[in-house]
Amino acid sequence: MRIAIIAHDGKKAEMVRFLMDHREVLSAKGIDLVATGTTGQHALDAGFEVERVMSGPLGGDAQIASQVTEGKIQMVFFFRDPLDKHPHEPDIAMLMRICDVRNIPLATNIATAERLLHSF
Ligand code: PGA
Repeated sequence: MRIAIIAHDGKKAEMVRFLMDHREVLSAKGIDLVATGTTGQHALDAGFEVERVMSGPLGGDAQIASQVTEGKIQMVFFFRDPLDKHPHEPDIAMLMRICDVRNIPLATNIATAERLLHSF
């Protein structure tokens, strides 16, 4: 299973904590992580193997959406910061739409992400 991880700047610390809290399941054989650039760098620094695409504002969310479209991603953890403005808002909306089009589980906050992981 390939899981995408994306966190807005205000949520990156939360994402790293989430990854560390679930290191065992997220590092298990058969789980591959793909991330937008800066989120991916944080995950690498925390000791995770992760494939990185571009940073979100530079098209990374669109790249993730493209992989969802192609059936290459089975789950998305996208910790959005609802209290901040984002120059790539159209890409964010597009990624969420594509997840719905493809019926891909999408967690936009840590509470949902925890519950999705428990379903493993
Ligand atoms: P980032 O992109 O991981 O490169 O910060 C995330 C985003 O802002 O969508």
